[in-house]
Amino acid sequence: MSFTLAIVGRPNVGKSTLFNRLVGKKLALVDDQPGVTRDLREGAARLADLRFTIVDTAGLEEVTDDSLQGRMRRLTERAVDMADICLFMIDARVGVTPSDLVFADILRKKSAHVILAANKAEGKAADAGVIEAYSLGLGEPIRMSAEHGEGLNDLYTHLMPIADSFAERAQTDAPETDVDLTEEEAELGDEDAPMPVPTDAKPLQVAVVGRPNAGKSTLINQIMGEDRLLTGPEAGITRDAISLRTVWDGVPMRIFDTAGMRKKAKIQEKLEKLSVSDGLRAVKFAEVVVVLLDAEIPFEQQDLRIADLAEREGRAVVIAVNKWDLETDKQGKLKDLRESFERLLPQLKGAPLVTVSAKTGRGLDRLQQAIMRAYDVWNRRITTAQLNRWLAGMMEAHPPPAPQGKRIKLRYMTQAKTRPPGFVVMCSHPDKVPESYNRYLVNGLRIDFDMPGTPIRLWMRGQS
Ligand code: GDP
Ligand code: GDP
Repeated sequence: MSFTLAIVGRPNVGKSTLFNRLVGKKLALVDDQPGVTRDLREGAARLADLRFTIVDTAGLEEVTDDSLQGRMRRLTERAVDMADICLFMIDARVGVTPSDLVFADILRKKSAHVILAANKAEGKAADAGVIEAYSLGLGEPIRMSAEHGEGLNDLYTHLMPIADSFAERAQTDAPETDVDLTEEEAELGDEDAPMPVPTDAKPLQVAVVGRPNAGKSTLINQIMGEDRLLTGPEAGITRDAISLRTVWDGVPMRIFDTAGMRKKAKIQEKLEKLSVSDGLRAVKFAEVVVVLLDAEIPFEQQDLRIADLAEREGRAVVIAVNKWDLETDKQGKLKDLRESFERLLPQLKGAPLVTVSAKTGRGLDRLQQAIMRAYDVWNRRITTAQLNRWLAGMMEAHPPPAPQGKRIKLRYMTQAKTRPPGFVVMCSHPDKVPESYNRYLVNGLRIDFDMPGTPIRLWMRGQS
């Protein structure tokens, strides 16, 4: 069984753009079916491995009078009734409008699952709107750009646990409808049934990325505990990105293999341009990205690009150096690796570096711990009180500069988001704060609150 997602929101926020992106070419218009109004559009959507029905209130015009307001409300309520999950979209460039409040109200009353998306958030101009979206009281907004395909990873993260719960419901419903058992058989069946795999715990999403032959397939096989993938010396033997579910030492995980990345990277040269490639998609959908290096040839261009990409996408990152069993001078090698890491990937300062042998399984327990810890840090929330005490200390140790004789005042700081952690500093002249001061604060946060292995975002914002 699949689920239905309704996209609701006032006109022009980008609902159709997202609809078209999720439905792709297989757009199924239903408006010529009897009894279905032209105002609700329905399509078969896919997002990575999720398949679902999507409903869009496409016919809405900008509301100018009361009758339209009523129509908008009715239409939205119908869409909400049809849907298992509602995606409520606002325009982050505009911020929260009175119409948005009307929608929020309907959703709070009628929908069990609401996902909030702040769209058109591809630039800095949207920062304020994204933060404003919190005021709707519908949880953390997904920062999205339907037009540029950004934020789909977060959408997936939000949809997956809900999708899983529908899948589970379908399974438990199945015996009642499909099989005719006598009472006795039913009882026996119950006792003999295997323990259900716990699906309520949301699997941690991990992508294993790295250059060809780094040992990705071997590593995933080791983790899965059986030969799920073919491995071999020739590059490109595994198929395009696939995700595998497993329980690794008690932790449910969904692991994305990214073998597809290398083939396409060769064709298109620039990894940055692979906006729809499987490899990039794996990075986007992952919560933690494991960059797997070959100890013999570590930190190649392709490794650096992938690691940088993961950082820019805001994923937690763990560096794993593979084929450690082949190393003779382990001490010396490790020292070299750490030096190269600091020099070549300064943007990932503090990310854990673990040595493993995918072949023998050595070091995999440490890798799992590093993944869990990076995930933990990625989700870290720091209280406003702690942050402001900390900020005062940072300013005392190193006051912000005074461009043109005017001292920048940092007034207040709060954590606006997690996954990865993002902080907002309210200040005078936000545009005058030099990059070096931003870096000073970010590095300080990382050290003082012990946050290795995660990107940290920091926004300066003027008083509004
Ligand atoms: P709807 O009325 O809510 O269905 O909105 P549309 O999908 O028709 O989009 C309205 C306008 O916003 C169109 O011009 C889109 O191209 C534009 N738009 C949609 N998504 C984005 C986005 O992520 N960023 C920007 N800058 N524009 C967008
Ligand atoms: P992929 O292209 O990244 O998926 O790499 P594979 O998993 O196919 O591995 C490429 C080659 O490296 C294979 O011949 C593996 O047997 C070998 N290999 C992978 N991991 C290790 C390891 O930890 N130690 C050694 N010695 N060889 C390894």
